[in-house]
Parts: sequence; structure tokens; C-alpha cells
Amino acid sequence: MLMNNYSRASVSFVRGKGATLWDKCGKDYIDFASGIGVCALGHSHKGVEKVISKQAKTLLHTSNLYNITPQSKLADKISNMLGGGYELFFANSGAEANECAIKLARKFGFIKGRKSEIISLKNSFHGRTIATLAMTGQNKFHPDEFGAYPDGFKFYDDIDEIIKNLNQNTAAVIIELVQGEGGINPLDKAKVQELARILKQRDILLITDEVQCGVYRTGEFVTSKLYDITPDIITFAKGLGNGVPISACASRVSIFKPGDHGSTFGGGFLVTSVAEYVLSQLSRLKNSGKLDKKIAKFEKNLDKLVEQNSDIFLKRVGLGLMQGIVVKDSNLLSKIVSKALECGVLVLRSGDSTLRFLPPLNLSKKEMKDGFARLKLAISEIKK
Ligand SMILES: *Cc1c(COP(=O)(O)O)cnc(C)c1O
Repeated sequence: MLMNNYSRASVSFVRGKGATLWDKCGKDYIDFASGIGVCALGHSHKGVEKVISKQAKTLLHTSNLYNITPQSKLADKISNMLGGGYELFFANSGAEANECAIKLARKFGFIKGRKSEIISLKNSFHGRTIATLAMTGQNKFHPDEFGAYPDGFKFYDDIDEIIKNLNQNTAAVIIELVQGEGGINPLDKAKVQELARILKQRDILLITDEVQCGVYRTGEFVTSKLYDITPDIITFAKGLGNGVPISACASRVSIFKPGDHGSTFGGGFLVTSVAEYVLSQLSRLKNSGKLDKKIAKFEKNLDKLVEQNSDIFLKRVGLGLMQGIVVKDSNLLSKIVSKALECGVLVLRSGDSTLRFLPPLNLSKKEMKDGFARLKLAISEIKK
């Protein structure tokens, strides 16, 4: 018997290939969700399978008491991909990557004169541990029943308000450049750049939570690149391991000493070998120009869908293959998600009124075409 903490659809998937899933009755589904933006290379990817199998035959675990060669290699690779100057900590989930960022920010603040406050946006999502819940701005994520929450976290409505409220006690500001759970909101570029400039002047850390929007999801390795900013700390998770649990915290501040932080499983042989392979494949997809083409095509399909259904849809939002359609009537959202599933296409929701799309970054033309055809069918069924 499982705990009653998820509300799940009744379907059970048994197999997947690329952007297609099959349930136990043999029915196929086009996957426009890839988990929640996890399987960037799609399901049962041959190369991923090979890396997993090879590593399982060689060595799975020794603990972080000893050097783990693929972990060091992955750290160097990620730092290089970020333009150099970052050091890495590996964990197992997005929340843990953010926990590492919190500890770095707190220690940085302590060194700079006992500044302990971390500021985030009201519409943010940063994880499910008690500290990352406390850092998550959306009120629904910190009901009284799970208190007491750790203090030292403040939220503001927008970047202007954050800038206004920076103070002697501010150690860091954390933002999602595209808010994943808050409605697929890309933040304003000029405002983000202004914030980055001011934080630098005031010796306050800028953390970008790229757990959902990172790893080529928005078209670049990191969304920070699209925004032309160099954050002090960047966190990654969802798309990094194609389904094996790995997250990372990349930092330009070098302040930890042995014993300051750790993880039993974090950065193990299996997950770091897989992540290194995933990054090499995704950077090839990007450098070949194929990723940009897929993005353009996906956006075109979404624009058409919005245009043809302007009675129920407001607009398209998002960047790269992290996309959303805002619905006019939020009551329709869960109906669309479940009807789409019935019609054989997986889509997600984000916030109260956004239909969310996080397809595999390498989905085929046919899968894209079939997925949109099924979505259209679902929408016409709903309108009946
Ligand atoms: C999913 C997510 C997290 C939490 O990741 P977990 O792996 O579920 O702990 C944190 N931040 C953002 C932006 C996310 O989308």
C-alpha cells in the first residue's frame, strides 16, 4: 500500500521508445511531457542503455570517501559548458541541489558579516524538502500543518520588488528564469540583467534554479545563456540524467571545506556516466542545428493550435521546448489534460491555468505530428 500523496491518472505504462509510450493494453501514447521534463533523449535510448549496462558491469558504488572518476569528468564538462570557473556538487534531486545552494548562500552570507536571508519570487517553486518548501514562494506549498519552517526566506511579487527590498541581511536571490510550476513564465530579460548587475555591485549571490529550464530545455545548455547573465550558482536536475536520478549544484563561489556537505548516493558512477553521455548527445543535437529546428516547428504547431482555438486559449508562453498554453477558463485545464490522455497524448499542467509541454528534445517529426493531431482531437471532443 502506498502513501496517499499523489493524485495519479489510472493508466499504467509498461514500455517506451523515443517519445512514445505503451500501456498494459498495448495502446500507444505520444509523450509531450517526458516525465516532467526528465527524459530529454526519449525512452529506451540505445546509447543510454549501453552506458547503464556497461557501468553496471564495471562498478556502481564506492561512496564519496574515494575519487569517482566519471564524477570529476562530469564536473569539468559542466564547468566547461558554462564557460569555466564553476565547481560542482552532485546530488539526487532538484530539491537537494537547491539545498546545496542554500548552504553555500548561508555560508557566503556568514563570511560577509552574518547575512542570512535568501530572497525568491512569490510564484516560484524550488522543491519539497522543508527548506526548499520554505524558499518556494507559492503559499499553497507551505501550509501550517507542515510547520515549523526554517526562517530566513523572503518572497516578492516581481524583480522590481526584489531589488527594492535588498538589504544588509540579504545573502542571495534565487530565481527560475522560466517558472516551471508557476505557469511557464519566462522572466523579463532586461529586468533579470538589471537584477544581476545590482546583486554583483552589492556582493549578493545570484542563484538560478535551472532544475526544470536547464540542460537545453529552453534551447541553450542553460537558460542563463539566453539571458546573457553569469549566475554565481546554478542548480540542475530534471533533464540531466534522462531518468536516472542526478542533480547538480554549480558554483563560482568556492567556500566549502571537507565535511561541509555530502550525499551517500550523490555523484555515483552510474548516474554521472549517464549524465556525461546525455550532455554529449544533447550538445550534438544542439550543434547540428536540429534542436533549434524542432523548437521552431513545435512553436509553430502550438501557435496554430492557439489560433484555431482562440475561444478557449489565451496565448502561448515559454521558451524552447518548455512551452505552455494559457487557458481562459482554468476549470478546463484538468479536463484537457485527461481528455488528451484518453486520446493518446501526454501533456501537463502548470499553475492554475497553463497547459504545459516538455517533450523529449529529440522527438521525431512523426511523433510531433501525431501528438498535435491527438491533441486537436481531444480539444474538439471537449468542445462538443
Ligand atoms: C522539479 C523542480 C524542483 C524539485 O526537484 P525534485 O527533483 O523534485 O526535488 C526544484 N526546482 C524547480 C524549478 C523544479 O522544476
